[in-house]
Amino acid sequence: MMSSLTCGQAPSEEPIDLGSLLADPDLLRLQAYAAGRWTDSDSGVRVEVFDPGRGILLGSVPSLSEAQVRDCLEGAESAFQDWREWLPGERAVALQAWAALVEAHEQDLSVIMTHEQGKPLDECRGEIAYAASFLRWFAEEARRIRGEGTLSHLAGCQTFVSREPAGVAACITPWNFPSAMITRKAGAALAAGCSVLVKPAPETPFSALALAVLAERSGLPPGVLSVVTGDAAMIGGVIARSPLVRVLSFTGSTRVGRLLAEQSASTIKKLSMELGGHAPFLVFADADLDKAVRDAVTAKFQTTGQDCLAANRILVQEPIYDAFVDRFATLAGRLKLGLGTEPGVEIGPLINARAVARCLSQVEDAVGKGARLLVGGERHRLGPGFMLPTVLADCDSRMAIWRDETFGPVAALGSFSDEAQAIGLANDTEAGLAAYVYTENGGRALRISKALRFGMVAINTAKFTGAPIPFGGMKQSGLGREGSSYGIDDYTELKYRCFAT
Ligand code: ADP
Repeated sequence: MMSSLTCGQAPSEEPIDLGSLLADPDLLRLQAYAAGRWTDSDSGVRVEVFDPGRGILLGSVPSLSEAQVRDCLEGAESAFQDWREWLPGERAVALQAWAALVEAHEQDLSVIMTHEQGKPLDECRGEIAYAASFLRWFAEEARRIRGEGTLSHLAGCQTFVSREPAGVAACITPWNFPSAMITRKAGAALAAGCSVLVKPAPETPFSALALAVLAERSGLPPGVLSVVTGDAAMIGGVIARSPLVRVLSFTGSTRVGRLLAEQSASTIKKLSMELGGHAPFLVFADADLDKAVRDAVTAKFQTTGQDCLAANRILVQEPIYDAFVDRFATLAGRLKLGLGTEPGVEIGPLINARAVARCLSQVEDAVGKGARLLVGGERHRLGPGFMLPTVLADCDSRMAIWRDETFGPVAALGSFSDEAQAIGLANDTEAGLAAYVYTENGGRALRISKALRFGMVAINTAKFTGAPIPFGGMKQSGLGREGSSYGIDDYTELKYRCFAT
């Protein structure tokens, strides 16, 4: 039987021969990588993948059955028993070898990504370097996973605490960073001694499978890393309910995060969750105005706004509000929109036409409640996934855009009068991932950043991520931290031993 599930929008042109665009066509795989074997679906069902810009078919991947996913977890559990015994230095060497191959194939991996995700090729290259940096970082961290010896409180005993790998780690990843979210999770898990099962987003399986090709080539033992494709809800349910999975690491919407937490309740596992954001971008009257405007454009429109760090509410102090709005609208209106493969493009397509419709409905809602539409506000003729960069001024808390994550190129600007109001507005969200503060007053920067209930606060900069930082949020934005030395914690268990001597 051969049928297909459609992901994205209906195709409009002849399929793209993606393999022919690669220096190493073997990186494009149309099979899942389950417990060390390249695998088709038992049922023959496949999931089609489209280029989001124009809706052109790129290829398809198998929709694995429930039994196949379960078998894969068994394979991961048995691989774990061996992998956990590797010396930390041996795991470090394996991760470095994988990283080297990722770096060596940066161009092909970027070509795959720009076609299935839509982001401009330069952004894809940046992401591949970022992805490799997590493998390098966690290769180094593998050797530094430490326990603690304590002076015993019991006579005649020695007590100590060690860290052990938790077991099989399942990683459910999103389409907006199709490679880096895999290595940020898998790098930490593998360094800790866990085996890993990745379920990539159905929109971007080829980036994940190409990483698996390189992991296999680098000599990672079979079963230590798997990439399973197919029905997200079914695979998520199997993972969450499986007692074999000891860590579930998820990046995606708060809605699905909650569902996975509920489904995981019966098997009490470690949960690591990086969920939605709703970043405030606060600009005080004493800020460097030009820099604040440039950075706000970057913080809003990078990844075409499809970024959990995106500045979703740009709040500017009243004395400079009009000047800020003018300059921001001018810069946003000049952003170059186009296919990710075209040089110089800054705004690519959204992941699908539904994402465009969601942005348009936020614009309509805001304008209906009094926002001023200064730039954009429409689809673009290039294809169903394209939306013009859009600027809305005079936004406030009655509007949907003030509460719902936009995940698209729509900027919402509003004003505030003083510090107290700025803090109140910024914290008025269920999300708590990232916040930005622009001020030249050091005392104010410290006061405001202390009062913000966000896991990451960037002061006078729009760029702050990287492998060495603890990425993650407070409140409904998630659980745990990824990257940095803290990123290992979610994949290890503490063991206390008391030894009577
Ligand atoms: P988005 O709306 O941005 O696509 P999602 O949370 O839906 O965010 O997707 C993030 C990841 O979660 C993807 O890998 C997706 O396939 C997966 N996913 C979606 N629905 C479910 C589900 N019911 N169970 C498990 N995973 C899911």
